[in-house]
Amino acid sequence: MDKQFGWWFFTCERQILVIPHGEHIPYGDLDDLPVPSLDTSKAERFAHYKGEACIRLELAEPLDLGMGEWMDLRSSMALLSPSVFDLVGKAQQFALFLKTHRFCGCCGESLQRVDWELAMQCEHCGFRAYPRISPSIIVLISDGKRLLLANHRRHQQKDWPIYTAIAGFVEAGETLEQTVHREVREETGVKIKNLRYWKSQPWAFPHSLMAAYFAEYDSGELNIDRRELCDVQWFEPDKLPNLPPHGTIAREMIEHWLHQTCSSQH
Ligand SMILES: [Zn+2]
Repeated sequence: MDKQFGWWFFTCERQILVIPHGEHIPYGDLDDLPVPSLDTSKAERFAHYKGEACIRLELAEPLDLGMGEWMDLRSSMALLSPSVFDLVGKAQQFALFLKTHRFCGCCGESLQRVDWELAMQCEHCGFRAYPRISPSIIVLISDGKRLLLANHRRHQQKDWPIYTAIAGFVEAGETLEQTVHREVREETGVKIKNLRYWKSQPWAFPHSLMAAYFAEYDSGELNIDRRELCDVQWFEPDKLPNLPPHGTIAREMIEHWLHQTCSSQH
């Protein structure tokens, strides 16, 4: 198999090599790129983009490859188009899977790479492992006029607190809808109704799949879970706080709601 031509996703831990022009991902024949001789025996095709292969090559350290710069995954979101960012996320999740599935969870023997799908197989006991994907929900709650937004502990910068939608991981045995109701009740104390699924987004931090919902406030007083949140408040559309960055599904939901609400008032 010719592994040498395509889009080159050079990764190192949680970093990606980006170049300053075009799609920001090196493209072409490896021999024509200004990279020093690299061991490409671990190079791997993992997707296609614009009709050409996407090739992932994980390096042991962020070497100077004679072009571009190393950037952490979150920072690259501001630079890359959403479709290229999704590919970077996919490359990262594949790398994480291979790194964390070297031995069998049942018998402890070494796992072997399956060559026709992304999986690791134990030849000793037959166990097969697939990449871990953690479903999670995010829900934007409104009372028709205002949005309920939370400042999470992980977004707690004192001088620049970010407010966003309520989110949480699906627990074993739960439906997505049950998770939405539980997370909202646990984190804010309120009840919601008229749950409406919108869309989903893979989120490589480290391996989530976010299912996004809109919901309406039903009843109850705000009662914040202080272990998870610093603050929850209702916000009028013209008095919004600092919002999560562009590229996040939370930001997209808030803008979608604003667009719908403001256009329905005209
Ligand atoms: Zn085994």
